[in-house]
Amino acid sequence: MSGKRSGTGMRSLKKQQLKACRQKLAERREELERALGLEVGSCGGEPETGDNCLKEAQVSLSLQNRERLAMELRAVESALRRIEHNKFGVCQACEEPIGEKRLLIVPTATHCISCQCELEERAKKRGLVFNQT
Ligand SMILES: [Zn+2]
Repeated sequence: MSGKRSGTGMRSLKKQQLKACRQKLAERREELERALGLEVGSCGGEPETGDNCLKEAQVSLSLQNRERLAMELRAVESALRRIEHNKFGVCQACEEPIGEKRLLIVPTATHCISCQCELEERAKKRGLVFNQT
């Protein structure tokens, strides 16, 4: 019994769902760290096998892939930080809750759907069209 209470900004997400998101994010972070050859600490257990395992991971990734993974890792880490600070699930632009369905699918989402659409709209106007649907 810690007596800790989470209050603000958590209206849209139940504790259980938050826990599920957090676990998903933590697992993804480990995967990404391993893929990027970062220090994970549980890579085989022994120093020797750990070393081999890191080298393999590094060789099998192209530079482009590594960049993409590194970006995702940053997103995952910031999402985990937001969970710790009770700010998870709040849009960074309008501070409205991000829909729980969206969060369960995309736990790294930083914007609600309407702000996300606006961002994409603005990007399109600048000529940056991502073919994402
Ligand atoms: Zn928003």
